[in-house]
Amino acid sequence: MEDCIFCKIINGDFGTEFVYENEDAVVFKDINPKADTHLLVVPRIHVESLNELNDEALLGRLMMTVKEAAKKAGLKSYRTVINTGKEAGQEVFHLHIHILSGRIKL
Ligand code: AMP
Ligand code: ZN
Repeated sequence: MEDCIFCKIINGDFGTEFVYENEDAVVFKDINPKADTHLLVVPRIHVESLNELNDEALLGRLMMTVKEAAKKAGLKSYRTVINTGKEAGQEVFHLHIHILSGRIKL
């Protein structure tokens, strides 16, 4: 999607380093980390939020991606967060799963 910052990142427009990637998603560091380690798991397809995602299998694979990315980053203990909707704090309207580990400042 044209004006979506995460689509641009996925497209390589900003040269963002991916700490992990697979067919379904890319994983990169949050630019404004709210924990010692703060990663974002972002599906390659543009879906605004969890409310717009109807692909059950993809959602399952995204959660597996969380696990794989956490393992690759050496995280044993972490919190996952999905903000859905403006009032819940969603700022980027391309679905993403936060992975937070270490000291968390939320
Ligand atoms: P949310 O509030 O759940 O929509 O989360 C959006 C997250 O994306 C925030 O934690 C931002 O710090 C992060 N973010 C925004 N722009 C970028 C970017 N260019 N690279 C990495 N993270 C970003
Ligand atoms: Zn997008």
